[in-house]
Amino acid sequence: MTYQPNSPEARDIAYHLHGYTNARRHDEVGPLVIDHGEGIHVVDIHGNRYIEAMAGLWSVALGFSEKRLVDAATKQLSKLPFYHSFTHKSHGTIIDLAEKLVTIAPVPMSKVFFTNSGSEANDTAMKLIWYRSNALGQPQKKKIISRLRGYHGVTIASASLTGLPNNHRSFDLPIAGVLHTGSPHYWKEHRPDESEEDFATRLASELDQLIQAEGPDTIAAFIGEPVMGAGGVVVPPRTYWQKVQAVLKKYDILLIADEVICGFGRTGKMFGSETYGIEPDMMTLSKQLSSSYLPISALMINDRVFQPIADESNKIGTLGHGFTAGGHPVPAAVALETIKIIEERGLVAHAAEVGARLQTGLRRLTDHPLVGEVRGVGLIAAIELVADAAKRSALDPVGKLGTLVNGILQKNGVISRNMGDALAFCPPLIITAAEVDDLLARIARSLDEARAEIG
Ligand code: PLP
Repeated sequence: MTYQPNSPEARDIAYHLHGYTNARRHDEVGPLVIDHGEGIHVVDIHGNRYIEAMAGLWSVALGFSEKRLVDAATKQLSKLPFYHSFTHKSHGTIIDLAEKLVTIAPVPMSKVFFTNSGSEANDTAMKLIWYRSNALGQPQKKKIISRLRGYHGVTIASASLTGLPNNHRSFDLPIAGVLHTGSPHYWKEHRPDESEEDFATRLASELDQLIQAEGPDTIAAFIGEPVMGAGGVVVPPRTYWQKVQAVLKKYDILLIADEVICGFGRTGKMFGSETYGIEPDMMTLSKQLSSSYLPISALMINDRVFQPIADESNKIGTLGHGFTAGGHPVPAAVALETIKIIEERGLVAHAAEVGARLQTGLRRLTDHPLVGEVRGVGLIAAIELVADAAKRSALDPVGKLGTLVNGILQKNGVISRNMGDALAFCPPLIITAAEVDDLLARIARSLDEARAEIG
């Protein structure tokens, strides 16, 4: 692509290194430069309007123009623009937020530790687990089990937990002590004649075997997203979480629920853990926590996790961990207001209701020749694109069809995201029934256009 010298696009290409982007091809593909947002829509610098059907990065729960969040941030900036949580310091906003999170947690939780990104929250979870094992006199109990296609972030530890090849390749990851067990994607992974329940039983039994092979007393924790997001929106098969939790209980292994995407209504309940009967010892939260207006994340821990950590910090004299901006008052004020709005407007029930409309509408596309599977729950969904539905085969190379349909959707005013050939949709929670119908119509039209294009 060629751009006017000094245009935003030309300057982006000249100066900006993007994450999750082919850096060599960025000039060829060109940046989509967004100017402003209105509700579920964003508008680019040329005036083109898009339904942001990914809510940014699975995150802008309240849409792109919620004035109350701007006011909450402004008010807090005027009153106390920064304070921290080190060395026994605190401030009212973070106390309110910690209390609120413990109150709404789906299982009894004890304390909240604040961080700035999902990656930092998961990194912190891993460090605190090691710290706890040392506190308990179990220095060998340090390994963490994650899942293939799970996504937990990009710092050295959390990228190691992530089970996606591109987060490891050429980064010399994963680090030692992180193990990956099977992905719970029934459609892709099940054996012939294996029911969903049987598939879940097999995955739990493979987990059990992995623990046995490694030595149960070396495994400290298991981490999983209630519904996998960036791995392609993988909804767990029936009975999966029950069976996995039974294995973890048997060996006294902690469970971390990564609620970074699922938290705050995404699956039609306040937390994904509620949707699937998950009883975590630790939970990581971010994204919809502040509707992504400002960066904030949190790690919640139960008393079983907290007590040994408190003892160890007492022994050492301090808990030698913490981020300058962890518990920052301004994103904390925005998070409190976000939760307040979600509660006041009944957006969790709304997500369940319009989510059902989205899921039903997408499932009507199952007969389309390019659609292999439609999956999802609440307001998170994916279409698995295939070149041949009967054979479940992708267009060669994998991801080509996903990129094609994603591009056509963008031309048709929809921002979605393809992970390979899985095309994800995760719109803001405020989406209305009429907007869901508009989105569905654009998706159907884009699939037809893609079909015509590949012949
Ligand atoms: N965990 C999950 C489930 C995520 O989806 C993400 C980001 O997409 C992360 C963790 C990492 O969060 P961040 O990008 O804020 O570091």
